[in-house]
Amino acid sequence: MNSKNPKRAIETLLVHAGERGAKPVGDPVATPLYATTTFTYASMSELDRAFSGESAGYVYTRFGNPTVGALEEAVSILEEGTGACAYASGMAALHAALIASGLKSGACVLASDQLYGATTALLHNFFKNFGVRVTAADFSDLDCLRELARDIRPQVLIAETISNPLLKICAIDKCAEIAHEVGARLIIDNTFASPYLCQPLTLGADIVMHSATKYLSGHGDATGGLVVTQDNKLLSALAGAKKLIGGVLGVWDAHEIMRGLKTLALRMERQCNNAAHLAERFAAHRRIARVHYPGRSAPQSERETMERVLRVELRGALVSIELRENTREAAFRFMDALQLCLRSTSLGDVFTGVLHPATASHRDLDVERRRQLGISDGLVRISVGIENVADIIADIEQALNVAAAAR
Ligand SMILES: *Cc1c(COP(=O)(O)O)cnc(C)c1O
Repeated sequence: MNSKNPKRAIETLLVHAGERGAKPVGDPVATPLYATTTFTYASMSELDRAFSGESAGYVYTRFGNPTVGALEEAVSILEEGTGACAYASGMAALHAALIASGLKSGACVLASDQLYGATTALLHNFFKNFGVRVTAADFSDLDCLRELARDIRPQVLIAETISNPLLKICAIDKCAEIAHEVGARLIIDNTFASPYLCQPLTLGADIVMHSATKYLSGHGDATGGLVVTQDNKLLSALAGAKKLIGGVLGVWDAHEIMRGLKTLALRMERQCNNAAHLAERFAAHRRIARVHYPGRSAPQSERETMERVLRVELRGALVSIELRENTREAAFRFMDALQLCLRSTSLGDVFTGVLHPATASHRDLDVERRRQLGISDGLVRISVGIENVADIIADIEQALNVAAAAR
């Protein structure tokens, strides 16, 4: 205790000693973890100015935090936005994006029929209760989509850059034209592509969102979501959703995701190349009926879409395979026999993970709907990791053989 300060009792010292020390003289090379809920100021007038937004300054972590702010700035730059907001999960981000785009009772959402399962459920189980109408459509049939948009006049169109689980590439530029023609906003979930493969805002999308839980963080140890836009009105609505709905990202997760970003290019290059190898190798495998991978035996129009939409000559790191013995039992036997690839309900991690869409992401759909969408019981989605590709292929091959022998 220096001479300027009166001597305090131990109970007081326990609370204050060491806190709010001098700022470091050297700048830290990495963003520090600002594990603080509030920010104190030397005077009330300074706090008042920060509160009103008259001067830049943090007030309360639910409104904004420097660690989280650094991640928001990074992802905004990567997506070529003018700003971003981070949330506690991809679903919280998606909810905020839908709210920010001004959905209210009576409004209509035109949603891709190939969305992440929880996104479909969010629209149907929550937004519908507030009087929002939801129509699902095949976003790869652009003429149909345009006609439908003119007919139902939606407020929002929503799709994914690479669809789940059949991995079709969305013609984001064309969908943006269709949306804007009817005064709607286009939300693109860019989780499967990451900004390394695609930047939807540069193709005309109004809002791009990410489950940062996947490729952005990439190591299976952080949950978070981000929304980016170039529209300042949308941005303040997104900040409002953060402040009042409160699904904010924690500082530790922000730090982990920020660390993940540094290696996104390296991971994506490796993972996409590994995936391309897998798709190639299993295309003619006798126990596999079909391989879904962007560009594989796609018609010319789809190839053109891929060239316009994907920023680099990579096609993503997910591969879906349909077993020739097209049953749930066969899929489970195959997945159980894997020794390296993990049975895990996520994607985008450094390790290879497998998922059974019919009992995981698309579990809540009835059999008939799954059949219409092309999600059979023998379909397995593989999120390819950064391991040595020969090891991944060997593991899948031995599991296919074990599964067939155990029949
Ligand atoms: C995982 C995922 C989400 C949801 O993200 P969470 O972080 O799990 O809330 C949304 N969209 C897609 C495409 C996803 O893969």
